[in-house]
Amino acid sequence: MNADLVIENVLLPDGTQGSVAISSGVIQSIGHDKPSAAAVYDAKGALIAPGLVDGHVHLDKTLLGLPFIPHIRGDTVAERIEAEKHIRRTLEVPVETRGGLLIEKLSAQGTVALRSHVDIDTEIGLKGLEAELTLKERYHHLMDIQIVAFPQSGILRDPGTDDLLNAAIEAGADLVGGLDPAGIDGDVSRHLDVVFNIAERHGVGVDLHLHDGGALGAFELRQIAERTLSLGLTGKVAVSHAFCLGELDDVDFGRTAALLAKADIAIMTTAPGPVSMPPVKPLRSEGVRVFCGSDNIRDAWSPFGNGDLLERAGTVCDRQDYRSDEDLALAFSLVTEMSSQVMGREGGLVVGAPADFVLLPVGSIAEAVAERPRQRTVFKRGINVTPGAGE
Ligand SMILES: [Zn+2]
Repeated sequence: MNADLVIENVLLPDGTQGSVAISSGVIQSIGHDKPSAAAVYDAKGALIAPGLVDGHVHLDKTLLGLPFIPHIRGDTVAERIEAEKHIRRTLEVPVETRGGLLIEKLSAQGTVALRSHVDIDTEIGLKGLEAELTLKERYHHLMDIQIVAFPQSGILRDPGTDDLLNAAIEAGADLVGGLDPAGIDGDVSRHLDVVFNIAERHGVGVDLHLHDGGALGAFELRQIAERTLSLGLTGKVAVSHAFCLGELDDVDFGRTAALLAKADIAIMTTAPGPVSMPPVKPLRSEGVRVFCGSDNIRDAWSPFGNGDLLERAGTVCDRQDYRSDEDLALAFSLVTEMSSQVMGREGGLVVGAPADFVLLPVGSIAEAVAERPRQRTVFKRGINVTPGAGE
């Protein structure tokens, strides 16, 4: 069968030169023969790597498209929630514009899919969600977008949010979120009751923000795992941040990680500093999936962030003291294979998968993580979507 496009002179993951054929947006073959095709792209020896997958962003929060807004300090999560609301009330550029700019920025760096947590509270209602659903459709050609209905102001401390979360799922959000059941809402059971009831009722997954540290955070993780197991939601639940996993003694870590593995709960980390970070290799060796995301990019929570997932993989290495090629490749899997799996996508450089990949002028995945080359040629479903490619 004739392919639509063949990428020639490409460095394959096994270190050999070859070609990749694409038909109807799907990888048709990977190898050393040159299939005939309607069009040919010469990769000039660049490495082909799977498209990057951002497991955690906030499309509605970004302030891209606005003049730089000075950060309002907040020492606690609760203070920063209020600071963000203050800024949000003054914004004249809509989420459709700001979020769109962020999607374009991520795509240009090789990201082909993302999970976005959208604020749901009694002040903003479902407005952010509606904007993100518009973005999901508008940017379908660049990005696979999954949306988490996220109670940024808490659930119990903002009465009415539980109904809004239900309505958000009915309106098209893909997963239900949560936020510090103890630290923000002060009632682990009642907070988790609301989140897991919604997940069970609608058959959707869960992705909770958990900043609560130490033994308290670990207790919450185990509660989340118990509920996941009893409701049969195994493999559909993720916890973002889970700083507590980096703060436990061996016994507490072991029993918590074992339960996370049993319930197949994935842990998202941004490899943050200076707070503690979930230890990647010990979690992997217990069988826990770990993935990465950018989280805040130029928003009320952080004036920083550029959405570069190769840089994020490098930060993982930095924080975990990884230096071998094998370790750099492990960090790379957190921004590709692992986050893709958590999102339930078929991905990777395999025949039959969507032709979502990036060409990088490096000799290996390890070099890509170390070098973070600026030059990235991005293909989404077999189309070259690199900015300027169509000109
Ligand atoms: Zn977040």
